[in-house]
Amino acid sequence: MSVHSRRENINLADMIDITEAGRAMHVFATELYPICRSITGNGIRSTLGRIGEQIPLILHEVPSGTAVFDWTVPNEWNIRDAYVANANGERVIDIRRHNLHILSYSTPIHARMPLAELKQHLFTLPDQPDLIPYRTSYYQENWGFCLTHNQLMGLTDGEYEIVIDSTLAPGSLTYAECFLPGATEDEVLISCHACHPSLANDNLSGIVLATWLAQLLGQSERRYSYRFVFIPGTIGSITWLARNEAHVGRIKHGLVLTCLGDPGHTTYKRSRQSTAEIDRVVEHVLRHTGTAYAIKDFFPYGYDERQYCSPGFNLPVGCLMRTPHGRFAEYHTSADNLDLVRPEALADSLAKLIAIVQVLEQNRTYRNLNPMCEPQLGKRGLYGAIGGQIDAKSYQLALLWVLNYSDGEHALIDIAERSGMPFATIAHAATALQSAGLLTEDVQSIEWSAR
Ligand code: ZN
Repeated sequence: MSVHSRRENINLADMIDITEAGRAMHVFATELYPICRSITGNGIRSTLGRIGEQIPLILHEVPSGTAVFDWTVPNEWNIRDAYVANANGERVIDIRRHNLHILSYSTPIHARMPLAELKQHLFTLPDQPDLIPYRTSYYQENWGFCLTHNQLMGLTDGEYEIVIDSTLAPGSLTYAECFLPGATEDEVLISCHACHPSLANDNLSGIVLATWLAQLLGQSERRYSYRFVFIPGTIGSITWLARNEAHVGRIKHGLVLTCLGDPGHTTYKRSRQSTAEIDRVVEHVLRHTGTAYAIKDFFPYGYDERQYCSPGFNLPVGCLMRTPHGRFAEYHTSADNLDLVRPEALADSLAKLIAIVQVLEQNRTYRNLNPMCEPQLGKRGLYGAIGGQIDAKSYQLALLWVLNYSDGEHALIDIAERSGMPFATIAHAATALQSAGLLTEDVQSIEWSAR
């Protein structure tokens, strides 16, 4: 089997300057920020085009009206201009100033009406009077504008001209995939939504993290195949699952990436399976970072993990984020901007993501070839053979843990968890024991887990 092809352990973290990556991701987020994205249309299409300049990407267009499980791919929405002008012809609400001003999926209109009538189509946040809310009306035809509450209070009575130059018509839903084949057909799925307009943490942070991880993995040897999907939220994952139902068995691990650029600590939401390998790996990595983090059990709300973890699929897909949606004051407002998202937070999220992938790549199940009492390590040069920065005492202890629990039943992540030692120390010990002929990869357990 091809899973045996690689023995040496590549250290992904050594391949990248993480601080510089944080800065570069923020620059890319800044480029994508002004684009008026929605679940369909030219905004998401051009966003995917820009991502495609960074990584190999295949765009998929799914026609409006296509049935996807209980849903239907909606009409395509495009917006060219939208404003409200006062009696003097001055644009008092103007999409050119901020694309959150338009209710996403607004139908076209050109009309005049008094303020009282217009107000039925205006959305504000009275509790956050300086912020523009983000509102959508995907599945119920409507038109509207979003503005700050202070702006609304400043509007005088009188007649206003309303212009929304949009189209809502049959077209297609656009999503994109970056597939990086590995030594096995087993896949790691990385998914992020790309349908929010000028919102930085909720949307762009996940996009730039996925892009940078794909770039890095594209340059390294891979045991797993990696599939990155950039999709509109909800309808995108439903569409993707409907089109890929026959292949989802290949997905062995998965993560939804979102809200990864704010200064809060990392949060991991478990898959619905709750003890899948991805769940144990992420929790292990976070426990050993030495910084604050939070673990949440699965709940059927949030992002696209809802679809991947719907009972008919129940895929091992968790959600990696920093501050969860709805828990930061800037969420779904104009304050979710490029100041909220920090280069150092993006860098920290990328470092954790890389550490997670590193463990997935190296987590294997071995069998001790000398299980009758402890083998004599000294005569094989294993005592004192210290690798890297790992101190001698914990390294020797790691050798004993790996030997004792490599019975075909325990993978390296199990041994790391049981011993309380970092995965890297355990993996390093396993490599040394294998080189000394004391350990062999347990093919049976691999075939079993691949079923
Ligand atoms: Zn959102």
